[in-house]
Order: sequence, then structure tokens, then C-alpha cells
Amino acid sequence: MSIFNKFIIIILPLLPKFFVKLFSSRYVAGNNFKQALKTVKKLNLDGQSATLDILGEHTLGKNNARDITEKYISLVKYIESNKADCNLSIKPSHIGLDIDYSLALINYTSIIKEAEKFNNFIRLDMESSKATDPTIRLYKELKEQYENVGIVIQAYLKRSEQDILNLPKNSNIRICKGIYNENENISFKTYEEINENFLRLLKICFDKNFYVAIATHDILLINSCLKLINEYNAKSEMFEFQYLLGVPMDNAINNFKIKNYKVRSYVPFGKDWYDYSIRRIKENPKIGTYVLKNLLHK
Ligand SMILES: Cc1cc2nc3c(=O)[nH]c(=O)nc-3n(C[C@H](O)[C@H](O)[C@H](O)COP(=O)(O)OP(=O)(O)OC[C@H]3O[C@@H](n4cnc5c(N)ncnc54)[C@H](O)[C@@H]3O)c2cc1C
Repeated sequence: MSIFNKFIIIILPLLPKFFVKLFSSRYVAGNNFKQALKTVKKLNLDGQSATLDILGEHTLGKNNARDITEKYISLVKYIESNKADCNLSIKPSHIGLDIDYSLALINYTSIIKEAEKFNNFIRLDMESSKATDPTIRLYKELKEQYENVGIVIQAYLKRSEQDILNLPKNSNIRICKGIYNENENISFKTYEEINENFLRLLKICFDKNFYVAIATHDILLINSCLKLINEYNAKSEMFEFQYLLGVPMDNAINNFKIKNYKVRSYVPFGKDWYDYSIRRIKENPKIGTYVLKNLLHK
């Protein structure tokens, strides 16, 4: 990374929030249900599915966690009444995992039950390694009762191969590289190791006949996944490709469409847009020119 890009990453959090908001809008679909649904409908018209995430994490207080759970329940109803092709991705700590395991279980259960009425689906996002065990336990308990639930497995964690092998039958998994800064004792650190593990995990999903969401923007990795899909003769109803809203993926998406492969955009929205936007902006390889261009044009 150039010195200029490193400099931008350092000064980014020092910029006033309204500045950051100017160039975060591509990654976040507004503040409320209405704005989020507008983005989802646009994606649907383009032949893409979506998964909505209300931004926020590490909620403190049982009442707050319950309020957020109620919001998710209303969102399930809102998606249904608007006939949108869209499911939900929810961070365990957003609805109570940091407070109490059983609170998170109760809250997920009420959202999943509501989604089940409308044939909709809830995925448990995966947070840092502190949350891996309880998140897998939540998933396994929920999966015993409900079909419409899925989990995320991170390719950078060394434990993930074993975790995926121990998941229940008919599991629904999103594989991603992993976003948190983990210790080298427990995680792969090089690009090659992480990508190798990603492909290893994908093979296990195909072997075990799990539904798998392939979530990456890495074009080399996507090409290796496409090769595996061919080798395994994987049925297109058993996998989908996912990407984060705002990351430029037009060529890859067109390629998926030509092949008739399902594509889903991860669409975050809500008042807690700041931390998420900073993470995304920092991941943009053209961060320097991107920030400068926005500063000059707005
Ligand atoms: C749908 C989805 C859901 C996810 N859910 C989780 C989760 O539950 N838990 C978790 O830990 N992580 C999650 N992630 C994040 C993931 O773990 C990675 O941190 C993130 O996707 C970057 O890795 P990459 O696979 O795109 O590969 P990288 O090697 O990091 O990036 C590949 C290329 O993508 C491009 N790119 C990436 N980001 C941007 C950007 N912001 N702007 C422009 N170009 C960009 C760059 O050209 C880069 O070279 C999710 C990612 C996706 C796509």
C-alpha cells in the first residue's frame, strides 16, 4: 500500500462525521426501512437478491437488545408486505449475545419464528473469535427447531474446517475470509493460506451437500470457486454468490447472471453507519483517490 493510502487511513477517523458520510453512502442504504427497501427493490429489478443488516453491534442492556429484536421482527413483516426478494443477516451481539447467551437465543428464536411464517430466512453473522463458540452453539440449537436459519464460517480461522465438519446436516453456510484482527495462533495470515482454506471449506460444503453462500470480492478466488463448481458439478440451487453493497463487482455479477447463478447483495442500513463505513472505505484499494475525489467534488 502506498504511503499516501496509509496516510489517508490514519486521518480518516479524524475527519468530521459529516465528511465521512459524503463517501460512505455507496456502502450503506440509508437510515430507515423505507430507504433500505428502495435499494433492495433496485437490486431485485436487476435480478439480484439481497440480505438486510441493521447496523450495530455489542448492544448493552436487555431492553435495548429486545428493542432491536422487535425492529428485526417489523423488518421481516415490512419485507413481506413489500414482496421483496430479501432475507436478513443479524450479528449475535446486536441482539444480546454480549449480555447473555439465553437472551440471544430467545431473541433469535422470535425473529426466526416470524420469518418462518413468510418462508423467509435468517443468517447469524459471525463476529470475532470470542463469539465463535457461542454463535455455533446458537446456530445448532436453532437449527434443531428451524430450517430457515444459516451461519457464517470464516476462512481465516484455523478451527473452521473442524467447525464445518461438525455442523448439522442440511446446513446453510456463508463462507467469507473474515474481517476481525485475530491472533496468528488461531488464524491464517497470508493471502494464500486464507484462500486455500476458503476452497477447502467450499469443497466440504459440496461434499456434505450444504447450501453455500460464497462471499468474496476476490476475483482470483471467485475464479477458483467457479472451477470447483464445475469439477463438483454443483447444482445452482445449492449455492449463491454474495457481495457487499458498494463494492464494484459489475463484471463478476454479469458473469454470474450469464451462468444463471444466484447473486445476493449484503445491504446494511441504519443510524450506526459510521464504524461500518470506515471499515469498508479502508478496504477500498483506491482509498486515496476515492477520498480525495469525494472531498473535491462534494
Ligand atoms: C456478503 C458478505 C458477508 C460477510 N459477512 C461477514 C461476517 O459475517 N463475518 C466476517 O468476519 N466477515 C464478513 N464479511 C467480510 C469478509 O470476511 C471480508 O473481510 C471482506 O469480504 C473482504 O474480503 P474479500 O473476500 O473480498 O477479499 P480481499 O482479498 O480482502 O479483497 C478482494 C478485492 O476486493 C476489492 N474490495 C474489497 N473491499 C472493497 C471495498 N470496500 N471497496 C472497493 N473494493 C473492495 C479489492 O479490489 C480487493 O483487492 C462478509 C463479506 C461479504 C462479501
